[in-house]
Amino acid sequence: MKPRAVRGMNDVLPDISATWRYLEEVVREVVESYGYREIRLPIIEHTELFRRSIGEVTDIVEKEMYTFADRNNESLTLRPEATASMVRAGITNGLLHNQRQKLWTAGPMFRYEKPQKGRYRQFHQFDVEAMGYAGPDVDAELIILCARMWQRLGLSRLTLEINSLGTNQARAIYRQELVDYFTTVKNRLDEDSIRRLGQNPLRILDSKNPELGDIIAAAPVMIDYLDEESVQHFAGLKSLLDSAGVAYRVNPRLVRGLDYYNRTVFEWVTDALGSQGAVCSGGRYDGLVEKLGGRPTPAIGWAMGIERLVALFIACGGTAPPLDPHVYIVAAGEKALAKAFELSEIFRDGIDAVRVEVNLGGGSFKSQLKRADKSGASYALILGEDEIEEKVAGLKPLRSGEEQRSIPLAGIVAELGEALGELN
Ligand code: ATP
Ligand code: MG
Repeated sequence: MKPRAVRGMNDVLPDISATWRYLEEVVREVVESYGYREIRLPIIEHTELFRRSIGEVTDIVEKEMYTFADRNNESLTLRPEATASMVRAGITNGLLHNQRQKLWTAGPMFRYEKPQKGRYRQFHQFDVEAMGYAGPDVDAELIILCARMWQRLGLSRLTLEINSLGTNQARAIYRQELVDYFTTVKNRLDEDSIRRLGQNPLRILDSKNPELGDIIAAAPVMIDYLDEESVQHFAGLKSLLDSAGVAYRVNPRLVRGLDYYNRTVFEWVTDALGSQGAVCSGGRYDGLVEKLGGRPTPAIGWAMGIERLVALFIACGGTAPPLDPHVYIVAAGEKALAKAFELSEIFRDGIDAVRVEVNLGGGSFKSQLKRADKSGASYALILGEDEIEEKVAGLKPLRSGEEQRSIPLAGIVAELGEALGELN
């Protein structure tokens, strides 16, 4: 029987891994150009960390975590998201004492969800967090840098939705309004929502059940209950986005699926990926550091789903720079093979960023040339007994109608370099 991968966990095969890496590199470059620095975090944390930060009555904590007891009977969890770990690391390492941090991290996340297109059990996020910043300026910066990424990657079809969830106090008042409202339509709620009505009514707004669409659409919205400071904060953000020319839509029903958010929340959504349209989501979490045992520290961040970014990039016609070899060396006979190895090292030494593949496993000229063609190489460099004897190599263009020509081995690096021109 063939071994199977675990459901919802995918291999990223070579035909697409170059695209992943290209996107990750561009995102990293953009984020670092705004002064964010990388932090690398463990993928396993104490279960308690996620319970306390994400919230007990959320989809993630209630039914999606990969939780297990280790050999010492400690309850550990594969991280379902990175913000909690980021905050934990900030506290653990004393990064937040009289300091501000602009950090990014990336890697796999784990949620026991129903696998479907754009939704997996192991998926990957690029995560950016700014801790120690209170004003709407950093909210704007985090959004503007997204707009720059989309532009760099040629991604259209992304729209920005923003909302404000106010302060905890303002949300408490709103929460009561919501409970009152949903109680009047309780007989039409589903089981999950009825349970949440008592515990965490805001979560009902985040329900993925389409049958609740109308009821949710008619519910009171947080934005009508905002405290004055949050109104100012939201206005500040909108004004900075306006000046930067970043378009947005205020979506008063955007609440996000995790409990720690307050004030600004946002989502970049696309219509190009079906129902899994959220590509990059984030928000402010001013109370989380303190809640997890640090000093009060305002903070905000976002996380982007790499699988969805890759899918959108492809849907928008994007392609990553190719990784095909520039030169494939065809070598017939023992002497020629030794020469091929020697030359390939000289090329790698002498031609910046060159990709050279030496034919492995022998074969006739004909079959080697077939492999050269299949490799996608621009040129085949041909070495046979005659060539070795005459101290030349045959240079055969594989992607143009040009004739094969013979070039002397002395000076071959310069000639090949010239033929290849600027390399990508
Ligand atoms: P959704 O509403 O699609 O469930 P979410 O609100 O749960 O998303 P977040 O927890 O904010 O998502 O995670 C940030 C980003 O990670 C999302 O915008 C999305 O791009 C991606 N993401 C979340 N869950 C998954 C998943 N199961 N598979 C693939 N990508 C995911
Ligand atoms: Mg989700």
